[in-house]
Amino acid sequence: MNDSENKFFTDVLIVGSGVAGLYCALKLPENLNVTVISKEALEDCDSYLAQGGICMLKNDEDYDSYFEDTMRAGHYLNNKESVDIMIRSSQHVIKDLIGYGVDFERNEDGSLKFTREGAHSTPRILFHEDITGKEITSRLLEEVKKHSNIHLYNHVTMTDIIEQKITVKNNQPSRRCAGIIASVAADSPLAGYAEAEADDGSMIVPMYAENVVWACGGIGGLYEHSTNYPHLTGDALGIALNHEVELLDPDYIQIHPTTLYSTAKGRSFLISESVRGEGGILLNKDKKRFVNELLPRDVVANAILEQMKKDGTPHVWLSMENIKESEIKTHFCHIYQECLKNGYDCTKEPIPVVPAQHYFMGGVKVDRWSKTNLSCLYACGETSCNGVHGKNRLASNSLLESLVFAARAAAHMVEESKEKKYSAVEIVKVDYKKYKDLHSLFGMYREKILNAIERSRENHERNNNDAECRQSDSASA
Ligand SMILES: Cc1cc2nc3c(=O)[nH]c(=O)nc-3n(C[C@H](O)[C@H](O)[C@H](O)COP(=O)(O)OP(=O)(O)OC[C@H]3O[C@@H](n4cnc5c(N)ncnc54)[C@H](O)[C@@H]3O)c2cc1C
Repeated sequence: MNDSENKFFTDVLIVGSGVAGLYCALKLPENLNVTVISKEALEDCDSYLAQGGICMLKNDEDYDSYFEDTMRAGHYLNNKESVDIMIRSSQHVIKDLIGYGVDFERNEDGSLKFTREGAHSTPRILFHEDITGKEITSRLLEEVKKHSNIHLYNHVTMTDIIEQKITVKNNQPSRRCAGIIASVAADSPLAGYAEAEADDGSMIVPMYAENVVWACGGIGGLYEHSTNYPHLTGDALGIALNHEVELLDPDYIQIHPTTLYSTAKGRSFLISESVRGEGGILLNKDKKRFVNELLPRDVVANAILEQMKKDGTPHVWLSMENIKESEIKTHFCHIYQECLKNGYDCTKEPIPVVPAQHYFMGGVKVDRWSKTNLSCLYACGETSCNGVHGKNRLASNSLLESLVFAARAAAHMVEESKEKKYSAVEIVKVDYKKYKDLHSLFGMYREKILNAIERSRENHERNNNDAECRQSDSASA
């Protein structure tokens, strides 16, 4: 394919400019033409919102305990191989980040300083104030901008993928991903490649690519109360369901125990787990403790919801009375400021908190190289599921997981391209009528995702019931 055909073509097309998308781009060789797109501004992604930090294996002695903490939090439903890969890759990834200029908090002797969060048996989390995600992602973005082979486009929405029929070994018919269909504004630099116009005035552009990487983040935008950006609506999952790309455990959705209670509409503000890790306590309406704050997230979230029901209140309280004022104003300075904006001085009084949708453990099913079941289509970061988190994510494992498996996607693409395994991308006949009414198209994706979540929940429940029956049968046998 060449430019004279006026088709957009790139070697690797990465959908998403969070940590997963940017790190994947950086790990690809300079001789590949790489394109990164984001639905909104490049910085509008959950990676910028991460507060608490990023886990790292402290030393060899920490391996068993880190592994066990991750498995226990995940209800032992984690993929052990993925957990092992993540933990063993952590020191290398952190070294890489420091090389890009990421500034983690240090002790007086210059060594890395670790904090602790719920369900970790020891402090092993690196942090930068309470804006670790912003520190990491902005450094990655700076680095990406130095690479002339990586091209960034914002306000470009993937609306579909392009599927190409191919033949593989023994002339067997198969299919590969050959790019995406995007919607862009009429004044976008990509509009010149448009093949159609949607009802909302946006231009529909086919973007061909040898490999596509979904790094589209979570699904919080499907929920009324979530800590996520509202434009993160799990679009990749809707598209996957339309193209027989497999999902795994889409009902594994994490509710964060503590977001600042507010009656205002919009994204819920997270009160990081490390506040509890550093001594924050949860109180009921009579200002009495009712739960061990350091239990796994799902357990604490359920305890809060139960307490709210018992008390008939829309929130419980979080007190930071056991944390030094100086620590609150330095380590948690952004949380402190946000509470002040909402009328609470958290150095002097408890703040109202409520659980909200926070993280997506399930997702597009991938193998240990972040490959989906459709050739030339990869997924990494929160959109994907390699089973590392099991049923519940251990705090501060997600930035790490996103980075580790994004790098593996890049490594695998390079290996596969050496083998020239798949027929090259060809121009595919596309029915552009499908993209005229984008509102209905995304509504259909939303419905399909919510149905898939429900089906998966029912399957898990049925399997659990069967397992309980088998257990009681064998106990009575
Ligand atoms: C408030 C908050 C605090 C957190 N704190 C921590 C923490 O302390 N430690 C930790 O490890 N994790 C934390 N997390 C989780 C972590 O931030 C995310 O899991 C991680 O950043 C996900 O990275 P990502 O690259 O997969 O997705 P994101 O960073 O969310 O990026 C998604 C990208 O995909 C793009 N996109 C989506 N759909 C489309 C589409 N259709 N077309 C084009 N582009 C699209 C978006 O525009 C965006 O650029 C936190 C999350 C939140 C919300």
